[in-house]
Amino acid sequence: MISFKEFLKHFLSIFFTYRCHVCKNSCDFGVVLCGDCKEKLRKAVHKPELVQDTIGNFNIYTMSSYDDFTSDIVKIIKYRPSKRLAKILAEICAEKADLKNFLQADDVIIPVPMHEKRLEERGFNQAWVLAEIYAERVGCHFSPAIVRSRFTKPQASCSESERTTNLDNAFCLNPDIIKTAFKGKRLIVVDDVATTGTTLQKSIEPLKELEAREIIALVVSHSYKKYRA
Ligand SMILES: [Zn+2]
Repeated sequence: MISFKEFLKHFLSIFFTYRCHVCKNSCDFGVVLCGDCKEKLRKAVHKPELVQDTIGNFNIYTMSSYDDFTSDIVKIIKYRPSKRLAKILAEICAEKADLKNFLQADDVIIPVPMHEKRLEERGFNQAWVLAEIYAERVGCHFSPAIVRSRFTKPQASCSESERTTNLDNAFCLNPDIIKTAFKGKRLIVVDDVATTGTTLQKSIEPLKELEAREIIALVVSHSYKKYRA
């Protein structure tokens, strides 16, 4: 006997063709990433590796190589936008990058925040989706400890000179956090991608007063061309 869910699936597939968000091949009802693309993504994700940090005094770790398949996925998540694809990416990263080994139970995972105005346009913050799923899979803390204090232009649409000042004072500590709870802990700031590293650098600034043991950044993809030796 076919379930109602199965019936609905067949019924809807008569009228709609579902396509993989990446390669556009037709897929089963409700599938956003086909089997081939999922496999390709799984192959592209590796354990976190240190990225050469050109401007900040903190370490950035990436889970895929420069300009890899993951960069395309990150762009599709952002510009389509697709929260479901963000969740799939987060699950694959947590598993393939072996985050259970990289992170510790006492670590605090903090997403790079998105301004309310942009959140309304897009419907979700991809950094939040990634951070929340990593924390769930690893069993460590999740905290929206940083918030946006003002609206800014997207870094991607800034000129070279604008990029360095566009995010000045754009982040602050979330007034709802208990500051002492962060003392001595390792803070992991999560974003989808690091390009120049400015967004990470500026978002990490307000965390410095929390007296954490260490602050690092963890991204899916990056645009730095060299790895630190
Ligand atoms: Zn595909």
